[in-house]
Amino acid sequence: MSQTNGTIFIVVAPSGAGKTSLVSTLLQAEPGVELSVSYTTRAPRTGEENGRHYHFTDRATFENMIEAGDFLEYAEVYGNYYGTSKRWLRERLAAGRDILLEIDWQGARQVREVFPDAVSVFILPPSIEVLEARLRGRATDSEEVIARRLSEARAEIDQVAEYDYLIVNDDFEQARLDLISVIRSQRLRGERQCRHHQAAIAAMQTPA
Ligand code: GDP
Ligand code: ADP
Ligand code: 5GP
Repeated sequence: MSQTNGTIFIVVAPSGAGKTSLVSTLLQAEPGVELSVSYTTRAPRTGEENGRHYHFTDRATFENMIEAGDFLEYAEVYGNYYGTSKRWLRERLAAGRDILLEIDWQGARQVREVFPDAVSVFILPPSIEVLEARLRGRATDSEEVIARRLSEARAEIDQVAEYDYLIVNDDFEQARLDLISVIRSQRLRGERQCRHHQAAIAAMQTPA
């Protein structure tokens, strides 16, 4: 499963850093990149749709899926299970698609073991104070949930040196352009471009 045609992008950030907002603008700018929809045991937030934001499931079903080996990676994050479907990812990669995984740092480690060529991006907030303000401003989580996410943010930030790219999400527009640049630069790599434009390149080469 480690040989792929498409590229896997992994985006990690402490909760509230702006990962989901940035990823959703990226997907508009780069329609060739597909977002993996994770399975989770977390309750849906207002506005979240099953199958679009997450596949919402109960703990027993999730644990059966672990036993069946259905996950490429899974982790317990802020008290809930989250996992990435192995089958979906395999199908899309085989079709040559680029895939974006919005997952936590524990899952990112597992994915990098299977796919060492995966490109990883860490989104950092400008400060813990700003992170707290964003979590409150989003108004999707209870005080208890916000406290738990903040208390785990420092441990997540400790992992930052493991990532290929680091984007500080201070000014949103700048961070958005940074994320698009990372994805575009990977998609423009010579080896990949030579494969995609094989016929045109051959046509322009000096005949033997
Ligand atoms: P988090 O890691 O704290 O960010 O939270 P989420 O990843 O669930 O994102 C925060 C907000 O982005 C929520 O209100 C979601 O409904 C919303 N969102 C919109 N599109 C997506 C998507 O494709 N995936 C995920 N995971 N969240 C999305
Ligand atoms: P994550 O998915 O990392 O938890 P979100 O994308 O849900 O983060 O962002 C958390 C909150 O912060 C949202 O209300 C979002 O609108 C806001 N936000 C994201 N980036 C910025 C930014 N650069 N400046 C100000 N607010 C932001
Ligand atoms: P939220 O509940 O706010 O949507 O997500 C909480 C955390 O779980 C975030 O750090 C998010 O990246 C992570 N997460 C979401 N989906 C997955 C997944 O499939 N696998 C792993 N390991 N983490 C995930």
